[in-house]
Amino acid sequence: MKCALCKSGETRHGMTTITFEREGFTLVVKEVPAEICMNCGEDYVDETITHEIMALAERIKRKWHPYRCPQVCSRFCNLLRAL
Ligand SMILES: [Zn+2]
Repeated sequence: MKCALCKSGETRHGMTTITFEREGFTLVVKEVPAEICMNCGEDYVDETITHEIMALAERIKRKWHPYRCPQVCSRFCNLLRAL
């Protein structure tokens, strides 16, 4: 397809990296299938894939949330030191 950003490049199948950032939480997903513009490098990721990654990020964020409580965190830090 034609790139919507630079309007001159053609896109080709490739891999890209998606970074999800919210409230001090960052999730980086590498090698996500996408259409990449051969001219400007803009990537177009399928909406279904984007939604799945967002849902995954939300799930991980919820799971990790208790560790942000100072009380639990001190325990968790001790656990990390013990490793
Ligand atoms: Zn482009």
